[in-house]
Amino acid sequence: MKTGVIGLGSMGAHMALNLHKAGHLYAVWNRTREKAERIAADTGALLAETPGELAGCCEFIVISVSRDLDVKGVIEALLPNIHSGAVVADTSTVSADTAKEVAARLRERDAAYLDCPVSGGVEGAKNGTLAMMIGGEATALEQVRAPLSAIAAIIVHMGPTGSGQATKAVNQIMAAGINQAVSESLAFGQAMGLSMDKVLDVIESGAASNWFLSHRGKTMLAGKFLPGFKVRLHHKDLEICRDMARKASSAALPIVEMTLNHYQRLMEAGYGDEDISALFRLKRQQYQDLERRMPRDPRVK
Ligand code: NAP
Repeated sequence: MKTGVIGLGSMGAHMALNLHKAGHLYAVWNRTREKAERIAADTGALLAETPGELAGCCEFIVISVSRDLDVKGVIEALLPNIHSGAVVADTSTVSADTAKEVAARLRERDAAYLDCPVSGGVEGAKNGTLAMMIGGEATALEQVRAPLSAIAAIIVHMGPTGSGQATKAVNQIMAAGINQAVSESLAFGQAMGLSMDKVLDVIESGAASNWFLSHRGKTMLAGKFLPGFKVRLHHKDLEICRDMARKASSAALPIVEMTLNHYQRLMEAGYGDEDISALFRLKRQQYQDLERRMPRDPRVK
C-alpha cells in the first residue's frame, strides 16, 4: 500500500523507517527539509515538496507532528490533492475535538481519518512495538492494518473518532503520576545515601517496577535527560487532559495540575526540550537547597 509519512521527528522518523522495512513506505515530507532528505536518501522514498504532493501519490498517510494546530495545518495542506478512499492515520497526541474536526474535513473529500495516538516512547517507535489506540471507522482500520502493524505491536480499536485520543489522555495522566513517583522516590533514595544501582535492581524486580523506572531510572540518576519525550510535549498533553476534564465535569485532576506547574518551571528554566525525566532536576534540587540552608556538621559522620 503506497504509504506516506508527514512529520519525521523523534517518533515519525522511526515510523517511516519501519514502514520502509515492511515494504510500505512510498513518500515522506517534513517541515524542516533536511530530516526528510535524510530519510529519503536512506530508504529511496520520494521526497515530497509539500504535504499536498505527498497526498497526491499516497493511498495511506501517517502523520506525526506536535500539536493540535500543526495537525490542522497539515490536514488543510493535503486536502486539495487527497484521493477519494484514502486513509489518514494521525499518531500525534491532540485533543478528541481536533480529531473530530479534521475527520469531518477529510470526510468532505471522501477520505477517512483515524486518530491513532501511540504509547511506548521513542524506543517503541524504533522497535515497531508501540501500543496504538484507535478512534474511527473499523472498516478504515482494516484497510490499513498491514502498514500500521509495521509501527505498532498492539493495535486496539477504541470506538468512534476521538476515542483514541481520549484513551491517550488516560495514558498521559498516568504517565504524569508515574514520572512524579519515580523522580521523587529516586531523589529521596539518593539523598539517603543509598547505592542507587542496587535500589534500581531490587525495585525493578518488585511490585513498584514500571516501564519509566526501567527505561529512565539510570539516566535520570546520572543527570542525563536526552529526549525521549519532551517536557513541552507532555505539558501540551496535560493541558489537553485538563480541558477535557473541565468540559466533562468539575472533577479535579491534582496530579495533572501539579505536573503542569512543575513542567512550567522546567520550561521557564530552559529545559522544555529535555526528556520528561528532567522532573528529577526539581526533586533533586529540594535536597540541595535544604543542604545549603542547613550545611552538614563535618564532625557528624
Ligand atoms: P518532535 O521530535 O518534536 O517532532 C515533531 C515533528 O512535528 C517534527 O517533524 C516537526 O517538524 C513537526 N512539526 C511541528 N510543527 C509542525 C507544523 N506546524 N507543521 C508541520 N510539521 C510540524 O516530537 P515527537 O516526540 O516526535 O512527537 C510527535 C507527536 O507524537 C507529538 O504529538 C507527541 O506528543 C507524540 N508522542 C511522542 C512520544 C515520545 O516519546 N516522543 C510518545 C508518544 C506520542 P520540524 O522537524 O520542522 O520541527
